[in-house]
Amino acid sequence: MRESDISKHTPKPITLAECEICSKLEEVQTSFYKYGWNDMDQPLPDEARRLVPAEPVTSENEHRHIKQCPICGTLYRYHSWYEYYVNGSEDYEELVRLSTTE
Ligand SMILES: [Zn+2]
Repeated sequence: MRESDISKHTPKPITLAECEICSKLEEVQTSFYKYGWNDMDQPLPDEARRLVPAEPVTSENEHRHIKQCPICGTLYRYHSWYEYYVNGSEDYEELVRLSTTE
């Protein structure tokens, strides 16, 4: 097999800036929802919803697991939590990009 044949089958690494998902996401993305206060909602970017779980998600870890970009393979730590307040409960989500250079 010639060298050119091998390189053809190796996925070309793309940078975050070239990835249509990751280029839209900051190192840390957070969302905030308050029940009954829609004006204050700050959802995650649409691109965040295109990330796929990198591990099986069960009821045990659905609020804290690793997600992966289906295009470039970058990993993100996803965490969501909930706070109860008398004037309206609050939902939070946090998405943190994990270092790809290790
Ligand atoms: Zn990506």
